[in-house]
Amino acid sequence: MQEEIVIIGGGVAGCAASIALARKGRSVTLIERELTPRHKVCGEFLSGEALEDLHALGIDVASLGAVPINYVRLAAARRAAQAPLPFPAASLTRKTLDTALIAAAIAAGVQVKRGVGVRSLDRTGTNQWQATLDDGSTYEAPTTFLSTGKLDLRGYGRPKDPQQWVAFKMYYRVSPSQFADLADASELTLYAGGYGGIQPVEDGMVNFCCVVQRSYFARAGLRWEGLLAKMQHDCPHLAMRLTGAEPLLHKPIAVTHIPYGFMRRTTEDGLYCIGDQAAVIPSFTGDGISIALHTARSAVAAYLGGETAPVFQSKLRAAMLPQMRLAEAAANGLSNAFARAVLPFCLRVWPGAMRVTARLTRVTQPPTVAPQPLPG
Ligand SMILES: Cc1cc2nc3c(=O)[nH]c(=O)nc-3n(C[C@H](O)[C@H](O)[C@H](O)COP(=O)(O)OP(=O)(O)OC[C@H]3O[C@@H](n4cnc5c(N)ncnc54)[C@H](O)[C@@H]3O)c2cc1C
Repeated sequence: MQEEIVIIGGGVAGCAASIALARKGRSVTLIERELTPRHKVCGEFLSGEALEDLHALGIDVASLGAVPINYVRLAAARRAAQAPLPFPAASLTRKTLDTALIAAAIAAGVQVKRGVGVRSLDRTGTNQWQATLDDGSTYEAPTTFLSTGKLDLRGYGRPKDPQQWVAFKMYYRVSPSQFADLADASELTLYAGGYGGIQPVEDGMVNFCCVVQRSYFARAGLRWEGLLAKMQHDCPHLAMRLTGAEPLLHKPIAVTHIPYGFMRRTTEDGLYCIGDQAAVIPSFTGDGISIALHTARSAVAAYLGGETAPVFQSKLRAAMLPQMRLAEAAANGLSNAFARAVLPFCLRVWPGAMRVTARLTRVTQPPTVAPQPLPG
């Protein structure tokens, strides 16, 4: 089938790009391997920039049940500190968000093909991109957006992850007292070899999402139950939150090998790489969705403005490089003993300093706020 634009991957970045292009009158085909949105490993924190971009796409997160998040807490070993967030934020499950994004793409006139993945992507002799699907059908277009998130297409892979990160997500119904105590906060628990995030999402559920180096996971016996027990032992704050909590999924969902710090250097003519296929920021910043939306918006502007994909990709990388490196250094630092001992200082530099998209899209930054120690 001959198309004007093919977008591979209907998550945050792919849907955002397809909606923006369709609104500009472009004919877009979006190919998404899942028939319906599923749970994804994600902390589900939506930063201020993500909220703005979603609003511009016509997604009203409040009506979808998003929970406003006003505070951030850092907890390590027996210490904890909190600060008000210097920007509006919210949390919403990815299943709900992705469902709304796909619906918005369909409403915008995007041709959405779901339930079959792209197996390969090749350049043809006529300067077209040819996507071959798992069912053998093919789609050809002069322009393709690659937005397959954490999954790499053969031939367009990202580098291996030397730390061998392992990430898990589980939903809980926590006790009424812990739910009231967590309130409108996103809590980050720190470990020597990773971190975890716990925050309320819609329907009274709580999301616990963690990412640890394989060495930490190995010390926990390479099993989820062992990891959860070790994390609670190493950080009693988490143990307190999960006392009497009821898991809401049969088993946690997991993902491995996350190439944190990756930024795509080059691409070929007509192939715009967006979302996690353009850059992967350390998860603790809570900025990945915002970056996915930002890269989609910038790629669409580049395409409509006649900027070639290789020029777009290298400009994007140059713009993001300093903040990505800072986020990486902070992610490594947060899990070392010194950082855990100076939580109030960490709170002062984070989250204000970590907001990559804020730096890309705004000239001024909101001031960072002084942290408040928690009672006890
Ligand atoms: C542990 C962890 C915690 C995180 N927490 C947060 C957080 O709290 N806040 C935040 O902002 N970000 C967070 N992120 C990052 C965020 O989840 C990602 O950056 C974001 O989802 C990237 O969007 P995307 O569109 O690139 O990929 P996705 O949203 O993953 O979408 C990719 C889509 O492509 C589809 N696909 C894949 N392969 C194919 C194929 N071959 N053919 C067709 N379709 C295909 C998939 O099914 C999927 O729907 C976290 C990440 C991790 C790992």
